[in-house]
Amino acid sequence: MKVLVINCGSSSLKYQVLDMTGEHLLAKGLVERIGIEGSIITHEKIGGEEKFKLTTPMKDHKDAIGHVLDALVHEEHGVLKSMSEIGGVGHRVVHAGEKYASSVLITKDVIQALEECSDLAPLHNPPNLLGISACRELMPDTPMIAVFDTAFHQTMPSESYIYALPYEYYKKYGIRRYGFHGTSHKYVAERAADILNVNIDDLKIITCHLGNGASMAAIKRGKCIDTSMGFTPLEGLVMGTRSGDIDSAIVNYIMEKEGLSSSELNDILNKKSGVLGISGISSDFRDIGLAAEEGNERALLALKIFAHRVRFYIGGYIAEMNGVDAIVFTAGVGENDISMRDIICNDLGNLGIKLDLVKNKVRGKEMIISRDDSKVKILLIPTNEELMIARDTYEIIKNKI
Ligand code: AMP
Repeated sequence: MKVLVINCGSSSLKYQVLDMTGEHLLAKGLVERIGIEGSIITHEKIGGEEKFKLTTPMKDHKDAIGHVLDALVHEEHGVLKSMSEIGGVGHRVVHAGEKYASSVLITKDVIQALEECSDLAPLHNPPNLLGISACRELMPDTPMIAVFDTAFHQTMPSESYIYALPYEYYKKYGIRRYGFHGTSHKYVAERAADILNVNIDDLKIITCHLGNGASMAAIKRGKCIDTSMGFTPLEGLVMGTRSGDIDSAIVNYIMEKEGLSSSELNDILNKKSGVLGISGISSDFRDIGLAAEEGNERALLALKIFAHRVRFYIGGYIAEMNGVDAIVFTAGVGENDISMRDIICNDLGNLGIKLDLVKNKVRGKEMIISRDDSKVKILLIPTNEELMIARDTYEIIKNKI
């Protein structure tokens, strides 16, 4: 069966087509500037000559998906004879609240439930839902599956997800820790168990998804027991532009001092903080790394603070799980930033965590990067959320339909 994976943002859309017999990627692409002048689709046939780019007006997500479908059946750049070859579509959906702890077949009821969750993820769920409705219009007979960023974290015990606020806010408004990047944490944890050739039920794993958005998870016997992002993706680690954990009293204090509205402050915490805010240079770790090498002290400070928070969570999760067998690095920074992995793992020998500085000199490749005498295995595993979405889509359709 061939599966189309769709990940819709507000003005962009990523897609992949996978052949699930052998899990081969056939094509992938990106549509940018949906609903904005200069809409463009960049399509790549795997093993093909060169990328196909088309700039053409796309007024909405339906237009965009129409162009994706055209590219997929295109004579030269296409990978399908007709769209009927697609047996299912897997949609990435950010927030399912407490409603779904695993992926589901999309029905009218599911769509309604997700609309109800839009309040919890106002920037993400609405575009995800736009993608779903556009696909349902264009491919009415193809089954569709929703795969949620929050689902994997639904196994957390209540002591991990309830905030120390009046309990009624949890009941009235669903204010609790949900966690995000769940598909990525699940994928790399399962890969780690495969690579180590140990049953995941016998492992305690800490996964570090360190990208522009960053989060960590404590995974015991294959189940998430804690994660660093919270009610929104703002909590936890320092990120590219997000503050992560701060004293919540600071919010009011800055609003009063600077005369800011709550939405202005929200913008600062989400878009102008993190390593960008500290360094004043960039949210990209490559730029900050270069500046730090040239002696920029704030750039160096940003990197140190980022690493400090990751180490802090590693320590916390080791205590929560009474140990750790494997630590996994993934996403843009985790997969590529050799020196950041080095700073994070430095001087953790007493916890049995010893990075091999030579093996660590690797980017974007599955590899064990701990020393042979390290009690805790350290792994670099490139994430593959699309494959995970395609797998869930294939499994549900195979078993239910
Ligand atoms: P992601 O959100 O997972 O796509 O990660 C994007 C981030 O990864 C970028 O903003 C960079 O900060 C970081 N990144 C990508 N490549 C490198 C690299 N070679 N060295 C350091 N950081 C990198």
